[in-house]
Amino acid sequence: MLFIVMLTGRCNLKCLYCGGTIEKSVMPHDVTYNPGDLFDFLNSFRNVSVAFYGGEPLLRDDLIREIMDSVRAKHFIIQTNGLLLNRLEKEYIRRFSTILVSVDGVREVTDYYRNGTYNATIESVRKISEFFDGELIARMTASQKTDIYRDVMHILKLDIFTHVHWQIDAVWSNQGVWRDFDGWMLDYSSGVSRLTDRFIYELKNGKVLRIVPFLGVLKAMLFESNSPPPCESGRESFAVTTDGRIVACPVVADLEWNWCGDIWNGISRKVEIIDPCPSCRYFRICGGRCLVSNREWFWGEKGFRDLCSLTAHLIESMKRVKKVALELHDQGMIDIRELYYPRFNNTTEIIP
Ligand code: SF4
Ligand code: SF4
Repeated sequence: MLFIVMLTGRCNLKCLYCGGTIEKSVMPHDVTYNPGDLFDFLNSFRNVSVAFYGGEPLLRDDLIREIMDSVRAKHFIIQTNGLLLNRLEKEYIRRFSTILVSVDGVREVTDYYRNGTYNATIESVRKISEFFDGELIARMTASQKTDIYRDVMHILKLDIFTHVHWQIDAVWSNQGVWRDFDGWMLDYSSGVSRLTDRFIYELKNGKVLRIVPFLGVLKAMLFESNSPPPCESGRESFAVTTDGRIVACPVVADLEWNWCGDIWNGISRKVEIIDPCPSCRYFRICGGRCLVSNREWFWGEKGFRDLCSLTAHLIESMKRVKKVALELHDQGMIDIRELYYPRFNNTTEIIP
């Protein structure tokens, strides 16, 4: 079981597509429960993973240390903008299985959306990459200015992250961020095709590019179906809000269908992916993409179907990779098990 613990509603940034600090009407800015109650709740599970989330979780580095010292977790994970990583001592950093840092690709794109933070973020990641052995994942938001091929390749070439992942800035993006989503989709799809060609080229040379959406789709094609949804929200992954509520997904803590209990009384209900996804031909791999986009059609039917078409293109692209990968495996050029990723739920949602 994965618990995403929201340590604060505050953020030290205000990125264009996000807006920064979470409104108090969604949840209080600061933790209002007794931390001991959280420890007892988390310790009541076997095989628990804990992911620190916010706002910016490193604004509560004190609480991170306390939780890491009090909870018997199999995996500790953090999603951060990276700017405050120096607040945690090396011994705590080393205990993470996965650190996900928000960065959007090349300097120009990252600085545009993320308040000019490219240099500071990369410097901060470079420092921890010198002593941290776990997964260090660049977490991109793909938006209007993103060139997915250029930005993903840029991250990989930096050679400080172990993986790159992205989410499309769709469905709840701030007003005004998008100008021409239809046009962008065409560029994005051709970028995914180029990245697929590059992935195949590298695979033929024995190298697996660690591109999370590619690997997560390949895993479902080669090994086991993705959960619906792949992030497992509402099934095997829940978030704890600052006031001790348990919600399926951390992003919409204010929506009632998302409420699943609290840390004092436990999980009272689960939340399932609903129509039209279960009857879709891509469901076994896509898993309905995201619980929120499955239930809240914020962009209407066209917006929903647009995202499905991008998912379909990704899946069809990975069919090309699967064919090559199986041939290379048979020839002894690669070990197919290298494509089994992620090995545990590390909060990467798989389908962008
Ligand atoms: S492609 Fe669209 S309809 Fe099909 S499972 Fe994914 S989100 Fe649902
Ligand atoms: S993919 Fe959707 S449901 Fe899953 S964590 Fe992200 S926003 Fe929530």
